[in-house]
Amino acid sequence: MAKIDYYELLEVTRTCSDGELKSSYRKLAMKWHPDRNPGDGEAESRFKQISEAYDVLKDPQKRAAYDRFGHAAFENGGGAGAGFGNDFASTFSDIFDDLFGMGGGRRGGRGTGRERGADLRYNMEITLEEAYGGKDATIHLPTSITCEACTGTGAKPGTQPTTCRTCGGAGRVRQAQGFFTLERTCPSCQGRGQVIEDPCPACAGAGRVTKERTLEVAIPAGVEDGTRIRLGGEGEAGARGGPAGDLYIFLSIAPHDFFQRDGADLFCRAPISMVTAALGGSFEVPTIDGDKSKVKIPEGTQSGKRFRLAGKGMPVLRTRTRGDMYVQVVVETPQNLTRRQRELLAEFEEESSNENHPEAHGFFAKVKDFFAGDAE
Ligand SMILES: [Zn+2]
Ligand SMILES: [Zn+2]
Repeated sequence: MAKIDYYELLEVTRTCSDGELKSSYRKLAMKWHPDRNPGDGEAESRFKQISEAYDVLKDPQKRAAYDRFGHAAFENGGGAGAGFGNDFASTFSDIFDDLFGMGGGRRGGRGTGRERGADLRYNMEITLEEAYGGKDATIHLPTSITCEACTGTGAKPGTQPTTCRTCGGAGRVRQAQGFFTLERTCPSCQGRGQVIEDPCPACAGAGRVTKERTLEVAIPAGVEDGTRIRLGGEGEAGARGGPAGDLYIFLSIAPHDFFQRDGADLFCRAPISMVTAALGGSFEVPTIDGDKSKVKIPEGTQSGKRFRLAGKGMPVLRTRTRGDMYVQVVVETPQNLTRRQRELLAEFEEESSNENHPEAHGFFAKVKDFFAGDAE
């Protein structure tokens, strides 16, 4: 398959600055990110291509090599940005940081074979009530952990990895290509500097095994939809004794039948009868803490009026304060009237004056003026 030019992929010119390169890359990475295009294989492959291109062009040395030799500069050698392996993973986490504001230490010991384990994402949906009270959740996740048999070295217990003979342990070899001498990753040890002659039977030399782990996660009261909880070091184990990645729990809150949430405030709608609206009254509403609160309706309440129940909203994360709850009343016009009810309402209408409906009166007075003006 012919490879697309890296500059073309990133939609920049060959003379673009690092800043232009970075901003174009970010824009494209956001557009093609697999999280934004779930199940879209084309987007995923595009994302990998632009990540690969950026990985090469952001490094001045690799960029110079690419300008001189094109894709050939990175063929056969592995390592130098050609594969999607480690370099893809690191690029992926970089954007992840940008997109979601994640921090945390990044990979350590590039080229030593001690690779940092991958970060893991775990999606969890909770109810609004659980977000209100907080929750101790137990999660099960399959994850690779350090192999116990070889303590992560990958070598059969009782043996040790030996120094690579091809590179003498440096992990890199020099190779003449035309006038240039290129330094590249050692093909015998893939840059680790060590080789395993007797692989550990439990992990086949990988230094890690897959296991289901059970974790307890304390979800604090007041979390919001989209909250991430980072559990440092609970991601995948690093290869050959490298540090573990992190686990990120992405919380989403299921829609609630009764409440809508805006930050720490809760909103709900309550239908009331026309008579209650006119004469005043009271009714009870459920509150998020499982209790009830009384809402008092004054005489002459209009539809859409909001009543505030102070301190009946959601807790504010890591504080003792609570938001408010707002109840919006909606006046329900009576339907399916009996004959007697019709008579009573007709009688009511006869008794009515403009003072009973000042807004309607004002509106129709204006309408009348409007038509009168039109006729002149
Ligand atoms: Zn092992
Ligand atoms: Zn080597």
